[in-house]
Amino acid sequence: MSFQRFNASTFQPCQGFCPGSLVLSIHDVAPSTQETVQKMIDDLRQCGVSCCSLLVVPHYHKKESLTRAPDFVKWLHEKQNEGHEIVLHGWAHLRPVALNEGLWKRLMTQCYTRGEGEFYDLSYDEAREKLKIGKQKLEQAGFDLKMITGFIAPAWLLSREAERAVTDEGFSYTTRLHGVIDLRKAPPIFHRSQSMVYSVSAAWRRGLSLLWNEFLLRRAERKVWPLLRLGLHPPDWRHPAIRKHALAVVSRVMQRRVVMTYAEWMKKT
Ligand SMILES: [Zn+2]
Repeated sequence: MSFQRFNASTFQPCQGFCPGSLVLSIHDVAPSTQETVQKMIDDLRQCGVSCCSLLVVPHYHKKESLTRAPDFVKWLHEKQNEGHEIVLHGWAHLRPVALNEGLWKRLMTQCYTRGEGEFYDLSYDEAREKLKIGKQKLEQAGFDLKMITGFIAPAWLLSREAERAVTDEGFSYTTRLHGVIDLRKAPPIFHRSQSMVYSVSAAWRRGLSLLWNEFLLRRAERKVWPLLRLGLHPPDWRHPAIRKHALAVVSRVMQRRVVMTYAEWMKKT
């Protein structure tokens, strides 16, 4: 197995064969998931991965406030110092159910995200307010906001108005299920790259996820996408078959691709 850590300061444009990139993101990083996330990081390190994008929720499920969890904050600073990227991932990761929602909206917000698509249909002002307080919490926890350049909405669901708010709050990029959006340009630039992700809440979803991710991986390898993305969630690690598959994918992909964070990938685009 080969391993190469991308270093933005030494990056050179490819001459001839150019290996693609691999970004590993770990979602829903919060005090209650810290222990599992550390296990995920340890397992990935065994495969040679030294940096992930950690998607942090500042007020997870309205119960876990970043500023009231000093041990978690200390651990998060350690992760950042080790080379992991901190990404803002919503505010509370919850979306209240509204009355009289249509079938499509119910499918997206209740079945697909189980009520966690917080930024799915926010107005510009609502989104901007949540982004502002999210940044404030990170700043109060001692993080340098200049180092936090990405915002990723829970379940990648981001209304157009909310995307505009993300741009106006100064974030350099966001991601959706199907790609990465460079917000530094007007109009924003969409880089196509579907994220691999597992759905683990039922046995049939886990079985289907394994098949679907194999298909996506083969498609990405065939088309030689410049960027391959793998999104992992803490519950994935409760299921040995999913954990084993994810680690096997990482080992396989690292033979041809360079691992980096989203922030590093943005620097080279
Ligand atoms: Zn999430």
